Amino acid sequence: MRSLFGKPATLMYPVVPREWKERTRGRIEIEIENCIFCGICSRKCPTDAITVDRGAGTWTIRRMGCIQCSCCVETCPKGCLTNVAGYTTPDVIKIEDTFTKPEEAPKEAAAPAEEPEAAPAEEPEADDAPQEGAL
Ligand code: SF4
Ligand code: SF4
Repeated sequence: MRSLFGKPATLMYPVVPREWKERTRGRIEIEIENCIFCGICSRKCPTDAITVDRGAGTWTIRRMGCIQCSCCVETCPKGCLTNVAGYTTPDVIKIEDTFTKPEEAPKEAAAPAEEPEAAPAEEPEADDAPQEGAL
């Protein structure tokens, strides 16, 4: 009788999005910028769902292979793995997500910033010379 007169137990998904509980084990995410490619997460994973390629600078996870045990999260020495609420989008293929560490560019960007300051100082002298010759 309660089901007849109460709210429906199901949601109008995806019109009404699901609210995940705070401690839901949904999917593994990585802060690839902090990864040192030590491979500990890959060795500790009971289902062999993680592949670490130090040479290529990539970290790959087989989404369908992961059982959300959080073993990789607990053993990562850099703390760059998290088990976040919410699942990956359903698909008809076995999804592999690969993350590539971006190359460090701040040091290269700082060096060229100093060069333009010296260049404008020389330009006025070059402009002055032709004017004197023309007179
Ligand atoms: S354990 Fe952490 S730092 Fe090491 S490869 Fe895995 S994600 Fe990267
Ligand atoms: S949560 Fe468990 S199964 Fe999933 S990638 Fe990490 S160690 Fe492997």
